[in-house]
Amino acid sequence: MSDTTNTPPDPPAPPTDTSNAKGDGLTKCPRCGSAEIGPVPGSDLLRCSFCRYEWSAANFVTSVGFDSPIDKLNGTVTTTGGADIDAQASNLVTLKCQGCGSEVVVNTESALQARCHWCRQVLSLQTQIPNGAVPDAVLPFRLTHEQAVEQVHRFANKRRTFALTRFKKEFVPENVLGVYMPYLLVDGNAHGSVAGFGEIKTAQYLRGPENNRRTYYDADVYRVTRSFDFTVDDLTIESSSSRANQDTRMNTNNVINTILPFDTKNAVTWDASYMGDYTSEKRDLNIDQVTPVARDQMLSIARQKATETTDYNRGVRWETEQLELKGTRWVAVLLPVWLYSYYEKKPGGSVFLHYIAVNGRTGETMGSIPVSVPKLLLVALTIGTVLEGVALAIVANF
Ligand SMILES: [Zn+2]
Ligand SMILES: [Zn+2]
Repeated sequence: MSDTTNTPPDPPAPPTDTSNAKGDGLTKCPRCGSAEIGPVPGSDLLRCSFCRYEWSAANFVTSVGFDSPIDKLNGTVTTTGGADIDAQASNLVTLKCQGCGSEVVVNTESALQARCHWCRQVLSLQTQIPNGAVPDAVLPFRLTHEQAVEQVHRFANKRRTFALTRFKKEFVPENVLGVYMPYLLVDGNAHGSVAGFGEIKTAQYLRGPENNRRTYYDADVYRVTRSFDFTVDDLTIESSSSRANQDTRMNTNNVINTILPFDTKNAVTWDASYMGDYTSEKRDLNIDQVTPVARDQMLSIARQKATETTDYNRGVRWETEQLELKGTRWVAVLLPVWLYSYYEKKPGGSVFLHYIAVNGRTGETMGSIPVSVPKLLLVALTIGTVLEGVALAIVANF
């Protein structure tokens, strides 16, 4: 690893301004000026419901130049949408309706638009606010509600044999809801160093008496080190603390990470008109708070890359590792997830939250369903092989 102790760190660059110039309030159709604008299901387009004109917001990455080479990144590049959250900032934001002059309150915990109940105009939050609700970019829903319902149906049907009777009775896949989840995307320009031991088998033989014969191996052990530059593109990290809370005794939040990846390169610059009837969740974690998670993931990428360069037939065991982050680039984004949730009331009064989550771009589906344990045991005793197939999906419940 290079010695960097004598080089003073670069002063932090000012954040890239990603607050758009549209301003809060009425967003208007670029062709006819109507304010009735919504997402077109199944596409990345917006549509004016008055003149039917369709258009798309600009691609985020190219419009701010975040497609420049990652291996040239130096220091921390941030945006105004990923700025630190002001703990004092309220979730409630008041907009003045340009239609009738009334004041309209938007609760940014779950919405970024609200309809004026006097004149029915839709008011949008376009300007970034210090409570973390307005991101830099949004990845529109590609999968329609109908397609999501079908995915949830298919997922649950495959696991019906083991599901709780109550779950089956109350299962209404139509209740799947579209939610925009907050994430931080990070590009990393890194240097990794790992060291450990690799083994090459030189002989294999059987020893011991007839009734207790064992296999023995001879192996040469080598000390292995690797030190290399590498880059990471759009690592996707949860930025909602309630979602990042992966307490497997209470919920199955971990399923949401299993429906990654998203095609984040197609995210468009923030436009609240993409919200439509979807709800949204607010980011409440700062870049500093998720940096350890990003580093951990980059370290595991480094270990994997290092392992790929080795050829020890009994494997390599890494014992020490170091990561030097030369540069990072952060983007706050909302990603589309269809969610079916189910509260399981456990005997004894505790509740457990199950999800089936569908990636709103790819349709990738994962989830947990409440399982009837006696049923599971019975099947395990009779047809063990079938159980293996479902064990992966339900393992989070135990
Ligand atoms: Zn129009
Ligand atoms: Zn109004």
